[in-house]
Amino acid sequence: MLILDLTKRCTMDTEAIVIRIKTPSGDMDSSVDCPSLLNFNDLLLAIRDVMPEATVTAFEYEDEVGDRITVRSDEELNAMLSYYCNTMNEQRMNGLLPDPLQIFPRGTDRRMSEIFTSVQLCCVTSSSLKKSSAELKRILTNGQINAQDIHYQEQLGHGNGGTVYKAYHLLGKRVLAVKVIPLDITVELQKQIMSELEILYKCDSPYIITFFSAFFVENRISICTEFMDGGSLDVYKRIPEHVLGRIAVAVVKGLTYLWSLKILHRDVKPSNMLVNTRGQVKLCDFGVSTQLVNSIAKTYVGTNAYMAPERISGEQYGIHADVWSVGISFMEPLQLLQCIVDEDPPVLPVSQFTEKFVHFITQCMRRQPKERPAPNNLMDHSFIIQYNDGNAEVVSMWVCRCLEERRAQQAQGHV
Ligand code: ATP
Ligand code: MG
Repeated sequence: MLILDLTKRCTMDTEAIVIRIKTPSGDMDSSVDCPSLLNFNDLLLAIRDVMPEATVTAFEYEDEVGDRITVRSDEELNAMLSYYCNTMNEQRMNGLLPDPLQIFPRGTDRRMSEIFTSVQLCCVTSSSLKKSSAELKRILTNGQINAQDIHYQEQLGHGNGGTVYKAYHLLGKRVLAVKVIPLDITVELQKQIMSELEILYKCDSPYIITFFSAFFVENRISICTEFMDGGSLDVYKRIPEHVLGRIAVAVVKGLTYLWSLKILHRDVKPSNMLVNTRGQVKLCDFGVSTQLVNSIAKTYVGTNAYMAPERISGEQYGIHADVWSVGISFMEPLQLLQCIVDEDPPVLPVSQFTEKFVHFITQCMRRQPKERPAPNNLMDHSFIIQYNDGNAEVVSMWVCRCLEERRAQQAQGHV
């Protein structure tokens, strides 16, 4: 039920909030320091500034069941802020970080939808999205991330390319994951990487990690993304099949989304599959920037165990190489179990994994790329269909339980 209590004052008066303006060519996040001073016309001006080509006359937000509610006046704006305030408090009480307030610009005439299509077609770059006028700056504190506004916390992990930190963005008031990669390259190459990364602003899928910003400081690039409090799948030991099934659905949906944008992931593996306590599963570290991939490759040591055979042998590869990596990523727990089964049959029966699951993996790992399932076939596989029920609760409970166990072990000094 939608709770709107306009008389009740809430934390809004004192607390900054993040408003995410959803536009056809990407999101623009802005931190509003004093939401109680915000009025409808100011916000509309801010939206028009972000989308100068469109005739925006109103905007919408989504209530908790996903219905769109239109805002055309100060009164409706207050209702929206009040609703958001309640949601934010609820998320906090559940130990979660509040989501930004998402708003969807709207026009009264047909021009708006035409503009939406043409903007999408000509692919307006993020820099024009982030352009802000004096008016916009007056109303909103731009959510663009600068190095000096980032407060680094603990190190989350270290890969071949760089180091990932948990960090706090002081202006945006949110937790980030910042990947810092040392790169000794020319300014020209830096510029090329930055422009190649711009496509990340366009990625908008619940199965893909949200990209906030990237910047170079001296010879290091920092890539700021959404923080996932469950971390990556590689640190989880045995994943039960009913959980793995839901994770596989999200991975397939994330990849299908990337492929629809003509992006190959190129680095599908458990450490690039992230989970959170809300039960969301998202892909990260996909290779949108050829230049970045090449620059990292120069310092890369070791082999990638998740790479498809055609890639290892240097042949041309496509979507099917990502499909192979999905198979091998999910085969890990199966193999692990198989070893235990082989050694001690009575303890763990082979029937621990269903035929559907084993078939899914075997299909993904066919030697001939063309014999592996294509995107549509992946979604139609009985294993995926079985778990495509939108039940995030299963993953959420499992992540929470594992984190709890890890904390308990740490407290006992086992880890
Ligand atoms: P490689 O460099 O070969 O890709 P990797 O994926 O393990 O290996 P990184 O991408 O540097 O290396 O990531 C290091 C670790 O940081 C990950 O294993 C993951 O646990 C953690 N991590 C990365 N991104 C996030 C994020 N957005 N939220 C939370 N944890 C993250
Ligand atoms: Mg990674």
